[in-house]
This record gives sequence, C-alpha cells and structure tokens, in this order.
Amino acid sequence: MKKQSMYLKTASYFPYLSIILAALLCAAFSGCTAAPAVQPDPAPDSDFTETVYQVSTLNALMQGVYDGEIPIGQLTQEGDLGIGTFDGLDGEMVVLDGRVYQVRADGKAVEVEDEVKTPFAVVTFFDPEQQVQLTGLEDYAGLQAELDKLLPSPNMFYAFRIDGSFDYVKTRSVPRQNKPYPPLVEVTDLQPTFEFQDVQGTLVGFWCPSFVEGINMPGYHLHFLTEDHTAGGHLLECALTEGSVSVDIKTEFQMLLPQNEHFALIDLDESLEEEIKQAEQ
Ligand SMILES: [Zn+2]
Repeated sequence: MKKQSMYLKTASYFPYLSIILAALLCAAFSGCTAAPAVQPDPAPDSDFTETVYQVSTLNALMQGVYDGEIPIGQLTQEGDLGIGTFDGLDGEMVVLDGRVYQVRADGKAVEVEDEVKTPFAVVTFFDPEQQVQLTGLEDYAGLQAELDKLLPSPNMFYAFRIDGSFDYVKTRSVPRQNKPYPPLVEVTDLQPTFEFQDVQGTLVGFWCPSFVEGINMPGYHLHFLTEDHTAGGHLLECALTEGSVSVDIKTEFQMLLPQNEHFALIDLDESLEEEIKQAEQ
C-alpha cells in the first residue's frame, strides 16, 4: 500500500515536469513549432521509393533537344507515375500505375510501346504519405492553394495524384517536330488545346522546389488523363468537383543527361524563367 501511494504521488509530478521540459526544448529549437505535419517514410521499401528520376533538363528541352534518349521500357524501371514527352516532342506523356500514355496533338491518348523513346521525363515510384478529399475548387489556382497546405517544406520534391470528377479541364498537347527543332516556346505558341466538361480522370505530376530552376520548373506541373485513358494533356486549367489527393514527399533526385551532340553543344548558361512560364502555363 505504501509503495503504491508513493508511486501515485511521484507520477502526479510527471505531467508538470513534461510541460517544463517541452517548453525548454521548444525554446532551444526554434524549428519546434514548425515541425512538418507529414514526415517522409522513415524506412523506404526500396532504394527507389523516395527518388524523383528525371531524363534531361527542362532548359535543354526549351532549346529544342527533342531527340529521344531512353526507351519507355527503361523509364518505367525508374518510376510508375510521372510526366514527360516523346521523341521529336511527339505529345504529352502521362505515367499512371506503371503504364505510359501518349496524349497526341489531337488530344487523344494511346498507351505507348516500350521501344518509344523520351527526350524529357520525370517519374517516381508513387508511395503517398498522405491522402485528403477535396471538393468544390473553382480553378487551378484554388487547387494549388489546397495542395500548398500539404507541403510541409518548400525545399523538397512532391509527387501528386488526384483522382476525381471535374466540372472542367483544359489541357494542351504538342505536335511532333521535324529537324532543325524549334525552341519549345515557338511550338507552344501554336499549341492545340482541349476542353473537357463533367469529366472523370486523374491528374499526376510534381511540385518542385525553387532551386531546380534550369533543371526543372519550380512549382506545380500536372498532366491529365481521363478515367477511360482516351484523352488528356498538360494541365492548363481545371475546376474540381470532388476528388482524392495523394501526396508523396520526395527526398532524392536523380538526373540522366542526354548523350547526344545537340545537348553537348547547346548553351545552358542562360536563364529561361520567362520562356518556361510562357511555355508551361
Ligand atoms: Zn507538361
């Protein structure tokens, strides 16, 4: 009996001690109050789980390095979700559940063969840490504002998958180019755009940190594929009726440089920030 009452008495002090200790720790580490709401997987299932894999640099694509570098069959060894384009800038790429779709210049999507090559792509093995439901977002800016809330830090990469029903989606694609390849801005000036009303589908893509400038595009880059996998494109605008958003925090980045003469000889010193905004938004 005596032992028990001592225990109870001692235990009653612990809550106060804990509060004092917590307060001291918070004062010592200013990051305490800004602790990320979501942590990356502490023990990834494989070496690839947290890696964003990219073929080429966005600035090289901007300057017309459109020759395919690796086949799709190799790209899918590096990820099962992502975006990109094809040899000769032949349409927009959507990688969903390990399958690769090509949204052609007419807006129609087809599944591509493993032998087709890509000059630029970004993929990852999608392993989301968090899923939320979203409803009634009137435009892409509104969707981005909601997605922003899921990013615990502006200094990491994030992969997204949004399955939902949309009041409206506007996409674009790009037509296959012939040599000498024109810069991407010249192609996107004439880009075909597509509008979908009351459509079910999936958005996939990435949010990249500001320090990727020159290599990729800081901010959001999403591609759309209809639920029946027959149409889609690079996302320009959307109104989400309701949908499920999954986000995957990515802490590793791997890039394959093109091994062709065109890439070797172009000047990549120049900032193309304005051109990228014009071409991608
Ligand atoms: Zn795109």
